[in-house]
Amino acid sequence: MPILHEKLHEIYDEVLHRNAGETEFHQAVHEVLDSLGPVVAKHPDYTDAAVMRRLCEPERQIIFRVAWVDDAGQVQINRGFRVEFNSALGPYKGGLRFHPSVNLGIVKFLGFEQTFKNSLTGMPIGGGKGGSDFDPKGRSDGEVMRFCQAFMTELYRHIGEHTDVPAGDIGVGGREIGYLFGQYKRITNRFESGVLTGKGIAWGGSQVRTEATGFGVVFFVDEILRANADSFDGKKVVISGSGNVAIYAIEKVEKLGGTVIACSDSSGYIVDEAGIDLELLKEIKERRRERISCYADERGPSARFIEDSTVWEVPCDIALPCATQNELNGHDAAVLAKNGCTIVAEGANMPCTPEAVRVFTEAGVVFAPGKAANAGGVATSALEMQQNASRDSWSFEHTEGRLAEIMRGVHDRSLATADEYGSPGNYVVGANIAGFIQVADAMLALGVI
Ligand code: GLU
Repeated sequence: MPILHEKLHEIYDEVLHRNAGETEFHQAVHEVLDSLGPVVAKHPDYTDAAVMRRLCEPERQIIFRVAWVDDAGQVQINRGFRVEFNSALGPYKGGLRFHPSVNLGIVKFLGFEQTFKNSLTGMPIGGGKGGSDFDPKGRSDGEVMRFCQAFMTELYRHIGEHTDVPAGDIGVGGREIGYLFGQYKRITNRFESGVLTGKGIAWGGSQVRTEATGFGVVFFVDEILRANADSFDGKKVVISGSGNVAIYAIEKVEKLGGTVIACSDSSGYIVDEAGIDLELLKEIKERRRERISCYADERGPSARFIEDSTVWEVPCDIALPCATQNELNGHDAAVLAKNGCTIVAEGANMPCTPEAVRVFTEAGVVFAPGKAANAGGVATSALEMQQNASRDSWSFEHTEGRLAEIMRGVHDRSLATADEYGSPGNYVVGANIAGFIQVADAMLALGVI
């Protein structure tokens, strides 16, 4: 890893010491601190008020037992988390992840990233994240409902429309948000729609929220292309994952004239030179909740399934990692660059390892970090909160227009900040510094708390 500015090194050492073993959290903190050298030099008041040190320590970390009964009548125990990271800009805001890999370090890395991402959107939202090591895979609807009810029976006391507003993430979609919201409503006897986002349209949800993260990543790439007098027209795109982010990224790429030729799940990937058939993919992954290999079986001769291999070996112009953290390493990055890929934008949170980012930068591949590129999901959650607060509901076109405008803002702010701090064209530096400054200024104004 690169050497940090002296003052930032001390902060990083403190983070390592205080959060032993939480490697993903260390990685996320290091990546931000690595960008902040020029800020420390320019604004000594941030260091004097220990803003960076305070930012690395979550305001509150909640860990709880979730006990529930499965279909066989067996008692199951999971662990629930909510890390309320920073509320300088607004209520804690960020998703819930249900996946067996979830632990405190993962939730902290996600909450830390979320704080900067939310700031970068320019919306009045703080940062938080939560989840559980519960694995929804293979569980019946009834089991998922009982788990969500048990989870909310503890979580409800910590959240609220002015306090902390969870949403979805990996393993938490419309079905889970429905069960969670139902239980919150039952316990509190309030229809407090602003307490969760990602709700169904009929009960307080927003148009475009389902599509927002995937659409947003593609809008961001469209801004990069535009800045280089280029467009999606004729571009070959490879996407990892086949969940909510990937599906709507595919839809928008195809709308803008590109062709998505490959996507994946944890069992392998599919290549379809004719372009992914989105309806078939949605049918298999969203409705039937089956493996991606079914796509190749049902699509016909243009598609094939490659088992246990990485999608990054498929040559493309643009790569969008939309699955999970650290899914794209230095070797994958070198293969992508060698095969002619010119833009990589993170649809997932921290999918590229630090080594991969270094390889991209050295090879001249434009790299858009998740904090900027995938901010469309949470930004549309903030639009959902606005609609809930005013008891209004906006049209699809209006909401999508707002999302596109926000993504343009995130793009332009990142680029302008990178320029201002001496790293022209570097979206990592631009996003980290722009996200940081807004939170840091609010923290200075609010005093030492
Ligand atoms: N989980 C999403 C993210 O990583 C969305 C969070 C939200 O809508 O609050 O940004």
